[in-house]
Amino acid sequence: MKPIYFDNSATTPLDRRVLAGMTPYLTKEFGNSGSIHSVGQRALAAVDGARDKTADFLNCDPQEIIFTAGATESNNLAIQGVVNYFQKRGTKIHLITSKIEHPSVLEVMKEMEKRGVAVSYANVDNSGVVKTTEIARLIRPETVLISVMYANNEVGSIQPIEEIASLIKTEKARRKTKDLALYFHVDAVQAVNYLNCDVQKLGTDFLTMSGHKIYGPKGIGALFVRRGVKIEPLYFGGHQEYALRPGTLNVAGIVGLGKAVELVEKERSVAVLKLKKIKRAIMGALSKIPEARFNGDAERQLPNIINVSFRRAEGESILMMLDMAGIAVSTGSACSSGSLEPSHVLSAMRIKPEWSHGSVRISLGRCNSEAEVDYFIKKLKAVILKLRSMAP
Ligand code: PMP
Repeated sequence: MKPIYFDNSATTPLDRRVLAGMTPYLTKEFGNSGSIHSVGQRALAAVDGARDKTADFLNCDPQEIIFTAGATESNNLAIQGVVNYFQKRGTKIHLITSKIEHPSVLEVMKEMEKRGVAVSYANVDNSGVVKTTEIARLIRPETVLISVMYANNEVGSIQPIEEIASLIKTEKARRKTKDLALYFHVDAVQAVNYLNCDVQKLGTDFLTMSGHKIYGPKGIGALFVRRGVKIEPLYFGGHQEYALRPGTLNVAGIVGLGKAVELVEKERSVAVLKLKKIKRAIMGALSKIPEARFNGDAERQLPNIINVSFRRAEGESILMMLDMAGIAVSTGSACSSGSLEPSHVLSAMRIKPEWSHGSVRISLGRCNSEAEVDYFIKKLKAVILKLRSMAP
């Protein structure tokens, strides 16, 4: 049996077609897109092409796309960029986020608190969804930024982005001090493959995406920044990306991101159908394992994520034993491997430690097939049985 990769939410393989698009820009077309001569201008044309594709995908102007080194940077730029703008002007501000964000949002928020900014953390329900009423409860007159992810990376729960955007619109119309912004940032990293990312429809001011989660290269990302929003750069020293993200552009990475979004758009509906079928088959088989439960609500979840907990079996041990059988999954606390802390997402969903410690995330992708399901289930059942027989 060839190895099974069920960890596509951590990263995806580079699509061969993306690599083919990138290769010239790693070899003979090595120009700096900022150079005036024709070598540089050919690189600039490639960047412009990718910017157009990304803008088409998000339904925004190409000038509203800022290329970054990945989603972590995009999230930092959106949050710190807005905070820096207002702090520099001595304005008292407040931010809102949710308790289930990726660390590249949560940790930035904690850092902002250390710098004197007030931050509120919205609760989620027990399926991992932020309620719009919860956001409404937290809004203050001085709130300038609300950051809520489109879909969660651990449990795949889809958030009510359009509803939150409409709440923000109402709140803005009601505000007395019209000069104080109220922006909406959405980390769409996990959603890009499967959900509509039309920023006009979603009603967001910032949207974060990452190349390596969509079969593109690592180290490239983008941030949609709506025209006219008030934001400061994090770095200085160049005119690139409208001076909001200076530095020589990663031409090959940008070309790869452009090709990756083009393929996502073209192949999305077929991909979703295929993944739903595999997901159903896996969930059907998992539901027959005793003392197992799913985290999150399959009705409001990405088609590629299954998060399951096994009682009396430890997530890290399951991961390691599956790895020995050639199967890659991750634990519920995907980002805090090595720590015994239960996942912050599962804790926010009020899942008891006896369950959250035994949680496993299975994340499917383009390269998976239904043929892998039987072998996976057979191995997983054997692993659970073994671990339970060893448990005190
Ligand atoms: N946000 C979410 C929701 C993610 O899943 C990830 C990657 N795990 C990131 C941000 C960070 O992305 P990058 O690796 O591109 O910095």
